Amino acid sequence: MQSISSNHPAPALIGMEHADLVTLCHNAGVKPVHADRLNAWVFRLGVTDIHDIPELPQNLYNYLSTHVGQLKPVSVANRMADDGTRKILLRMPDGKEVETVLIPGPGRLTQCISTQVGCAIGCRFCLTATAGLTRNLSAAEMVSQVMLARKESKEEIRNLVLMGMGEPLHNYDEVAKFVRIVTDPMGFAFSPRRVTLSTSGLVPAIYRMIEDELPCNLAVSLNATTDEIRSSIMPVNTRYPIAELMRAVRDYIAAKNRKRVLIEYVMLKDVNDSIDDADRLCELLRGLGCTVNLLPFNPFPGSGYQRPDDATVSEFHAHLSKAGLVAVVRESKGDEISAACGQLKTEVVERRKRVSV
Ligand code: SAH
Ligand code: SF4
Repeated sequence: MQSISSNHPAPALIGMEHADLVTLCHNAGVKPVHADRLNAWVFRLGVTDIHDIPELPQNLYNYLSTHVGQLKPVSVANRMADDGTRKILLRMPDGKEVETVLIPGPGRLTQCISTQVGCAIGCRFCLTATAGLTRNLSAAEMVSQVMLARKESKEEIRNLVLMGMGEPLHNYDEVAKFVRIVTDPMGFAFSPRRVTLSTSGLVPAIYRMIEDELPCNLAVSLNATTDEIRSSIMPVNTRYPIAELMRAVRDYIAAKNRKRVLIEYVMLKDVNDSIDDADRLCELLRGLGCTVNLLPFNPFPGSGYQRPDDATVSEFHAHLSKAGLVAVVRESKGDEISAACGQLKTEVVERRKRVSV
């Protein structure tokens, strides 16, 4: 851990998982039990200024004030759509901006977390992809999204989905830390069943999740049923083709032995929305106990894709259901504030574009 006076910024307290807090206590010369108190005050109660945490040993205050930094992103925009979906734009200390979205549901609020500024994976149907990757977010920056949303929303956040900007498994170490922080029973205490990590299918990192027993659910953006179609819409498929990806999904299910994997399927008109596609999807998922989320494409200018009509979506859905698959059509939320899946891109880029037209 570095001192604040060095050239490197001190690590932020809100990016520390329990093991880091124990090391911190050890370095400060205080009992490890204080790690539990920090965990509870910082993450459960949301107190991030150490001077507001009562009754810590003086050594610990001294250590914290010289070795630990604070991360204070500011909320630069906060917009609510008619359906209650709220999009919050956060500016990090280096000026980079990321979005987080709060999605209301019956009796629950779900927060969609961004894991990177931009994304390097380049899926052709995704607006985030168009700007490329600027940088990874730290665990602290992901935690700050939860803290800020918790402050700005009256309702309790029940679910976290890592489905915002970025590919979580392309930023594995920080994302894994974030998942451990939010599921720590002494801190935020999200149930691992209520935290879902969505990936475009980075196979080696799925095996890391298995090995690390990362306490969260897995969602896989399958989006197509043949390598030809999948490679044409998701270049990542040329590295990790469908058979390899499905093997990883099966290994994940077998290793965890308790989880249903969520399969996401963006529906693109005349690309992957035929009954043959539905048949192949049933074949690929047979016996896996997966739930399928059908995501009718959210259009954006210049994408070159279209959203299938409602009848096509219903037929596709009915076909899966008839074959015994649990499938749900996810209506896009917050359309008018561009908060829906694949529509997340910082307002900076949008603003810049408006200036240049
Ligand atoms: N990078 C991760 C998580 C973020 S994307 C992933 O790809 O899984 C979250 C989901 O939104 C993915 O399932 C993705 O396929 C979907 N998505 C992206 N662009 C979309 C669009 N324009 N319309 C509908 N869904 C989209
Ligand atoms: Fe990245 Fe996911 Fe968008 Fe693909 S769909 S470009 S992986 S954010």
